[in-house]
Amino acid sequence: MDLTAADVWLCEFPLVEPFAASHGTTSARTVAIVRLRSGDVEGWGECSALPAATYTAESAAGCFELLATELLPAVLALPTAADPACGTPGTGSEPDDELSALRRTRPDAPMALAAIEMARLDLRLRGAGRSLADHLGVTRARVPAGVSLGLDTPDGVVARARSLVADGYRRLKVKIQPGHDAAVLDALRSDDTVERSGAEIQLDANGAYGPDDLDLLVDLVRSGASALEQPLATSHVDAAVELVTRLDELAARAGRRPVPVVADEAVASVGDAITLADRGALSGVSIKPARVGGLTEARRLHDLCVERGLAATAGGMLETGLGRHALAALAALPGFDLTGDLSPAGRWLAADAWPDLQLIDGEIVVPTGAGVAPPPDRRLLDATTIDGREIRP
Ligand SMILES: [Mg+2]
Repeated sequence: MDLTAADVWLCEFPLVEPFAASHGTTSARTVAIVRLRSGDVEGWGECSALPAATYTAESAAGCFELLATELLPAVLALPTAADPACGTPGTGSEPDDELSALRRTRPDAPMALAAIEMARLDLRLRGAGRSLADHLGVTRARVPAGVSLGLDTPDGVVARARSLVADGYRRLKVKIQPGHDAAVLDALRSDDTVERSGAEIQLDANGAYGPDDLDLLVDLVRSGASALEQPLATSHVDAAVELVTRLDELAARAGRRPVPVVADEAVASVGDAITLADRGALSGVSIKPARVGGLTEARRLHDLCVERGLAATAGGMLETGLGRHALAALAALPGFDLTGDLSPAGRWLAADAWPDLQLIDGEIVVPTGAGVAPPPDRRLLDATTIDGREIRP
């Protein structure tokens, strides 16, 4: 499939309300969007890097520049003879050798490269009239919805949790950091509305704790947390091993399945997950396609989790409807046994150029249309654009 042009936009979508995590507060969603063209067929990709380089070293504006000046010109210059079809149907594999070379050149740009991978896949799937779900080989038609709650006071978190369980959500992932942890969990656990809903409460610290906090973290599990996501900074591998061991022992005494210690920021690739799993420093992985360079690597990580008996959850990045469509298809793979960050983008975006996911009775409908997602509303895309470039071969 010959590429005739590429475009990249830097858009700013207004947030419904600011979102706070221990790595910073986001008030508008700046996002880089890629389009690849082959004649009349278009493929769209979203770069999920956050507005500022807080969660990882990539930022939306930095990725926009890199895509415009280096990555998209390189993609347009790739030899088309070796351009593959859609990979093997039902396996999600993409023998995308050209992109592998780019990945080796720019190992520091997984989110920018994930946008290109998504656009290439969307272009090919759209050309073939196939859906991403079909490409990945998923069979589930719906997946449980989950939602992430930003840092807030205990009362603030409870108020939000009540309205979310009323909307049908049965998994709440609550952001914590030192000083905003046990009191928040206790408030949720002692609230009748939240308890009656049967909602599962996972905690995500974005690496805010250290080796001296292991007792506190174990106590959070005793108090009813159903998963601890990236509790420790990524450098504290020994402490992570000790935490996993203590939670395994706690579960063995109670005759239950251990509460997983889920690695998020610590895993940028399948190789990272293997290293940490071999050391016993994780018992689950939050799989974010953007963080690991795209859907292909995310699929490989999922398969590794299945093979190693690790818990897996599909992680979100406050994407637009485009990135959300990709995440919903991925999350329908059978190894995702922890409910992921699966909610419609309309929960945080006050305006979105893409159609949103459907939430029905606490479940997300897995998209089955051709491509990764339906095409965007160009009027809305233009209205939110703060910069744009067209690249020709
Ligand atoms: Mg996380």
